[in-house]
Amino acid sequence: MPQLKVLGGGKEVGRICLQLDINQHHFLLDCGISPALKGKQALPHFANNIQHLNAVFVSHAHLDHTGAIPNLVRNGFRGKIFMTLPTLALLNLLWQDELSLMEREWSPEERLWSSKEMHTALMKLAEPTTYHEVFRLNNLKVNFHNAGHILGSTMTEFFYNGYRIVFSGDLGTSSNHLRYWRTDDLTYPDVLICEGTYGGKNRKGREEVARELIDTIRATLERGGKVLLPIFAVGKTQEVLKILKDNWNKLPNVDIYLEGMSIETLRVYEQFLIYMDDKVRRGYLFNEINPFRWDALKTFKSLSERKRIHLRDTPCIIMAPSGMLRGGWSVWHMIRMAASGKNLIGILGHMEKGTVGYDLINNVREFRLLDMINKNEVDVRVKCEVAAFEISAHAMHTELCNYISRVKPERLILVHGEETNLLSLAESVKQHTGDIIIPSNGDKIDLQAKYTSIGTEKNVEIPISEDLAILLPASTKVKVKYRGKIRYSKSEDLRSLVKNPS
Ligand SMILES: [Zn+2]
Ligand SMILES: [Zn+2]
Repeated sequence: MPQLKVLGGGKEVGRICLQLDINQHHFLLDCGISPALKGKQALPHFANNIQHLNAVFVSHAHLDHTGAIPNLVRNGFRGKIFMTLPTLALLNLLWQDELSLMEREWSPEERLWSSKEMHTALMKLAEPTTYHEVFRLNNLKVNFHNAGHILGSTMTEFFYNGYRIVFSGDLGTSSNHLRYWRTDDLTYPDVLICEGTYGGKNRKGREEVARELIDTIRATLERGGKVLLPIFAVGKTQEVLKILKDNWNKLPNVDIYLEGMSIETLRVYEQFLIYMDDKVRRGYLFNEINPFRWDALKTFKSLSERKRIHLRDTPCIIMAPSGMLRGGWSVWHMIRMAASGKNLIGILGHMEKGTVGYDLINNVREFRLLDMINKNEVDVRVKCEVAAFEISAHAMHTELCNYISRVKPERLILVHGEETNLLSLAESVKQHTGDIIIPSNGDKIDLQAKYTSIGTEKNVEIPISEDLAILLPASTKVKVKYRGKIRYSKSEDLRSLVKNPS
């Protein structure tokens, strides 16, 4: 009987890690870390059967889904790691960057893995695949579908003896440069495990957010200030570059500098433009338009060039990871920019508690920050403007509801979200599924869904003959149409429906 163990991501956004046990085989769906925590605390609650795990299925490259995989290898994991090819290309960069951060800013005891385990995972265990290339693992068949969240992101569909489980991974938003997700070939699974980061929360439309961002940046540049955009190297860098390029005629002509790993992740995105939305693909195919690059975009050549920029009074835009100001170049630039009232720090999207980004949007204005080059701690008083913009690669509430209502799972398990957000999402989608579970970390769920009641059988609108209802064996699951929507019913319920239509 299939069983799901929640090792991480239960009622929390970070360190998603779900163990799927089917017929003596053990698989992990993602294996991430908590971005705001250090050392072992950042890891999921691993069971002690790591050596016996058969495989890890990676939904996408973000560290809250992948950051603990090399630690699994350190603890004896030697199974396969399945992911799409762009995910492998991005992981190579993200893990290298995380390793540098751990070596720079964590004590040796806190470090979760070394380059040796990282290379074993990337070079020996990783199995790059692509969307809709159904592959088999023991008795399990697996199919990756596009999730439209970041480059290479997947929804994962598992088949086992006629039983279907779908894991949404992180779901993308229509306000994105990537191809949007579809649900046509995902409907009616026995179980849907769905993320709920933005449950209960909607955001402004893409046009409005882009306008706010451009207006605020323009005001800063026109008063002679510099703009710092702490940015995730994967996904948000490309989305913001596209907004800036599309609106460049509305801004003063300044230099824009791309920092650190964003430079390399941009090159990966450029290799896979075929994964972008239709407009981007057509622009590239017919007119060779690169959606992310234009003349003003530059990179720093040296440390002294960076220092010169901060000594000069010339306005410019700097886009630098890490996005939540956990460390890296964004913190280095913040140390040099925060004191001037002319400058702007633009916070983009969700910030995890415990990060400088989270504190900034919660009006903390005094920090002690580590200068990663000088290796000393610096007291920083923030006098510059701080503004937040709702730019996210995640599906918002209405999109999550839309997704679940179309997939129509028999059982819904909500993860990867704060409890209040997951409860709010559950409330909005309860009519589209048999039952809903919001598990905590450590919970074990028996997945063999026993369908209990759906409460709407009386309202079936399609004509059902008594003969048809009686011909069906008891407990046969049938699809019925009610007010234009497809739902489930049981054959015995149909019989009483036919006899007592109301
Ligand atoms: Zn993600
Ligand atoms: Zn995530």
